[in-house]
Amino acid sequence: MSDTSRQTLPHIHDVIIIGAGPCGLAVAARLREKAPGAIFTDEEHRRHRFLHRYGRSMPLKQVRNGRVTCCGRQTPSNTQDLDIVALDATHNDWCGRWNKLFKCYNIEHLRSPMFWHVSPADRDALLGYAYSQSRENELLEIHHCVGKEVSKHMRKRTRTQKCSAHSACNARVEINERDRIDYFNPSQALFSDHCRSVASRYHLCNGVVKKESVQDIKFDAVQGVSVNDEPLFTVTTDQGPQYTRTVVLSVGPANQPSIPRHAFRAFSASAPLPQVCHSTQIETFPDPIVRTRIALGQRTNVLVIGGGLTSAQLSDLAIRKGVSKVWHLMRSPIAIKTFDVELSWMSKYRNLEQAYFYSADTDEERLQMVKAARGGGSIPPRYHKKLKEHISRGRLELRTETKLVDAQLVTTEAGSRWKVETEPAIEDMPSFDFIYFATGIETDVASLPYLRTMRETHPIDEMGGLPCLTEQLKWRDDVPLFVTGRLASLRLGAAGPNLGGARTGAERIALAIQEHFEERQNEDEASEGSAVGDRNENEWERFVLGRGSKYSCLVEH
Ligand SMILES: Cc1cc2nc3c(=O)[nH]c(=O)nc-3n(C[C@H](O)[C@H](O)[C@H](O)COP(=O)(O)OP(=O)(O)OC[C@H]3O[C@@H](n4cnc5c(N)ncnc54)[C@H](O)[C@@H]3O)c2cc1C
Repeated sequence: MSDTSRQTLPHIHDVIIIGAGPCGLAVAARLREKAPGAIFTDEEHRRHRFLHRYGRSMPLKQVRNGRVTCCGRQTPSNTQDLDIVALDATHNDWCGRWNKLFKCYNIEHLRSPMFWHVSPADRDALLGYAYSQSRENELLEIHHCVGKEVSKHMRKRTRTQKCSAHSACNARVEINERDRIDYFNPSQALFSDHCRSVASRYHLCNGVVKKESVQDIKFDAVQGVSVNDEPLFTVTTDQGPQYTRTVVLSVGPANQPSIPRHAFRAFSASAPLPQVCHSTQIETFPDPIVRTRIALGQRTNVLVIGGGLTSAQLSDLAIRKGVSKVWHLMRSPIAIKTFDVELSWMSKYRNLEQAYFYSADTDEERLQMVKAARGGGSIPPRYHKKLKEHISRGRLELRTETKLVDAQLVTTEAGSRWKVETEPAIEDMPSFDFIYFATGIETDVASLPYLRTMRETHPIDEMGGLPCLTEQLKWRDDVPLFVTGRLASLRLGAAGPNLGGARTGAERIALAIQEHFEERQNEDEASEGSAVGDRNENEWERFVLGRGSKYSCLVEH
């Protein structure tokens, strides 16, 4: 290739992260962290840190064979130096969508505990940040989960009971007083500032996130861009194509929200529904139509549909913003849960549930475990209390096990309102100024337009709308497309769609990306005839990093 053609080659990134939410930020930060400690014990962290810092500058003696690895060897590829760019459909900053939704719903505190955050440096990074900034007053204690230890008598009874291989008694959780400090909800302001400080610490602020919506991903040699037919990803966005060696997909629930249309028979499936909105598409709350009617002193009624925390937050907020009465319909009985998932999936004893999950024989089993652990939507006790207060004041009507079956838009001189029918029928239901659906988002990888090409050219199995990834969260062994967040639930477990999965996903992906670039480097070096000694060194490093076998580094080359 001539020098002039080299100069005009398009830029090839090392990593493109699609989706700049908390999971995307966790991956980017982890790639830039030299001594990750967030999921190691203190002892492992110290050992890792020492070897990372000094392992190359001093001779290291291997215990088994006494072989001394000399210092001064060539540095293998460092993920800290990788060229990373993040593309996000809605914002040109990290966690833009997250911040927008929290602002829109006026949420003051997260639902999750202090050890769910995005920093790779330290498990207690968020807690430490709160204290270092003297903002411990922004932490809200989570009641009813610490100090509920099980009596000796109860433990004995449990032991004598017959427990199935996977049952609640196997996964009994005890959070003792020592861990009380973890069980606080951080304020949204604190969490958001912490994310900003993580981005700044790892130099991920200026220009790393670009507001571009991804429309297609292709993996193939690109004529005029690839050198030696190296397969590259062509990521096509609304701004044009970009090239990269690896891709991380962190697109959250991924699919577009959909409003169940069966109740709106008078409207065709594609017609926009006036005075109806899905919770994830709210721009201002309540809608300007409702605001105007409140301002005119009219009586207003809003219908909220859904059984999760968002529906409770919307009902509460609507009442606080002056709506006369909110009707809240739930398809199922109300579920009161402190967190989205059971404590057994998230406390420091989660290893037990995770072990059942990892050792499951099939992805179908894993899917069932995730479904069982998450259940449908649930409301934390704090919000349930708020709802009960509104009910007692007559501002809220909560109907469980009730479905919306028909809605007709009736226009009078006083404006348009929805007349609805439910099952079972509710008498004396008013017409509604607005209907909000807080019914979540159904994830289905098969219907994502930007994965159509990948699914055609590099097909993989899918289960329950989720891709069946490799253990490294890779699309396929031969395709360095990594997936984290909700789409990786079949590998990350029930906390995958939440912040709980962010660091675990980031850890696996960063190690796999490091391995990918090391392999590339080895191939390059092999072609220059200098691969033999370094191969052994890489095995050693893989072992130290906890990924390789200690026996493979003993093999004579
Ligand atoms: C109101 C609310 C409160 C919540 N509170 C908590 C909580 O307290 N604790 C907790 O653990 N979880 C909570 N959750 C769940 C929360 O969604 C996840 O924990 C978190 O957002 C997951 O991060 P993510 O990066 O996977 O997804 P997201 O935050 O959804 O980020 C995905 C990003 O991908 C981008 N994207 C999608 N498609 C494309 C595309 N084609 N091209 C480019 N970019 C794209 C989106 O714009 C978005 O910015 C809450 C969710 C909501 C809605």
